[in-house]
Amino acid sequence: MAKNKIIEGIVTNVDFPNKCTLVDNENEYTFKGAILGQKVAIKRTRGKKAKMVEVLEKSELEETSNCIHSDRCGGCAYQTFSYKKELSYKEKLIRKLLEENDINFEGFQFVESPVYSGYRNKMEYTFGDECKDGPLALGLHRKNHFHDIVNTPECNIVHEDFNIIREFTREYFDGVLEKYNRMRHTGVLRHFVIRRSSLGEILINLVTTHNDFDFSKYYEELLNLKVEGKIVGIVHTYNDSLSDAIVPERVEVVYGRDFIYEELLGLKFKVSCFSFFQTNTDSAKVLYELGRDMISGLDNKVLLDLYSGTGTITQIFGQYADKALGVEIVKDAVDAAVENAKLNELSNVEFICDDVFNAVKNLEYNPDIIVLDPPRDGINPRAIKNIIDFNPDEFLYISCNPATFVRDLQAFLDRGYKIDNLKALDQFPRTNHCEMICHLVK
Ligand code: SAH
Repeated sequence: MAKNKIIEGIVTNVDFPNKCTLVDNENEYTFKGAILGQKVAIKRTRGKKAKMVEVLEKSELEETSNCIHSDRCGGCAYQTFSYKKELSYKEKLIRKLLEENDINFEGFQFVESPVYSGYRNKMEYTFGDECKDGPLALGLHRKNHFHDIVNTPECNIVHEDFNIIREFTREYFDGVLEKYNRMRHTGVLRHFVIRRSSLGEILINLVTTHNDFDFSKYYEELLNLKVEGKIVGIVHTYNDSLSDAIVPERVEVVYGRDFIYEELLGLKFKVSCFSFFQTNTDSAKVLYELGRDMISGLDNKVLLDLYSGTGTITQIFGQYADKALGVEIVKDAVDAAVENAKLNELSNVEFICDDVFNAVKNLEYNPDIIVLDPPRDGINPRAIKNIIDFNPDEFLYISCNPATFVRDLQAFLDRGYKIDNLKALDQFPRTNHCEMICHLVK
């Protein structure tokens, strides 16, 4: 059968997060990005694999869209659901994933996010165009068309301040500076990152290639924008690298400071430009509280927090423990964590900057509890044995990727740990992501 053939049909199965199946003339095709029950057009790519082309008819699970960008913007997957329907849809996908991986825990619960609009405290936008050689766009990648960028003036998962700042910036540079072209490696404007804490502090990071344009007027006008929060810092990052990611080759603080303050469960955190912080602050509170309720207690305990980021868990849990040690690979995040501990007057928490894989090989530490909160790739499979060799009484495994979580969990179960508690938390409403929290005991 010809490659690139367009096939139409109904999505009859979806596996977490968005792996879809469509049957046509007894051939079963898999592709990404649709919703169960939708009638879609797909383009056959290779073998039984296909690519989503467009939605032809809505699924009966869908209602009218909550967002004017939802047809095109690749940021969200479930803007056409009521939040209640979204929750039950995600819950079904997660339950199926657990079942298929023989993870049976009777008390499993899917917990909703306390907020499902305006919840993101960070957004990373890309400069580009909505169609080839169109006017300057600044926004998110287009659904199923990674090279196009969709303007997002009415994005509802961020605070309105994001939309004001993003649109001002797009307008300011439109016709003035060229967007960076990934293929030809020409142009100036690359990324634009906004962070806004629940205290209303805003940090802006403009990412360009090295160039001699005078940005001072832009910074000045930016600071005069009418926003609800307060812009406390503007950072200009220069990046000439060929990589699509933001590589901070040179970082200049052009106004104020290069961090914002965030408050979480009574502690203060300095969040810098490049360090990790949970993107949904309100739901992060729920996450850490759920975790704290699951473990047996922290009194006189020794805690090891692997993948500690800016040290949120190390401190939120560690303040009640005898001592706590965080391990994190990003130096910027470790520096922030050390400062945060000082800010919070916690003298029993420490941090080391290292790859968990290396750190656990010969770390002299005797933890009662190990918290694991790896990035989306999960735990390096070659590190798991050494991690379990610490032989703690309990593990708390927090994961932002259920797919790698179910893979990693097996090693713990094989070595005699059992699930004491397991929950999923909808940290990322409107998207197809969610967080897993699992308490393992010997
Ligand atoms: N527990 C923190 C951060 C979790 S995000 C919180 O709740 O805020 C995962 C963190 O793991 C990120 O900060 C990332 O920089 C870090 N990381 C990724 N790979 C790592 C590795 N191999 N070794 C150590 N840290 C790593």
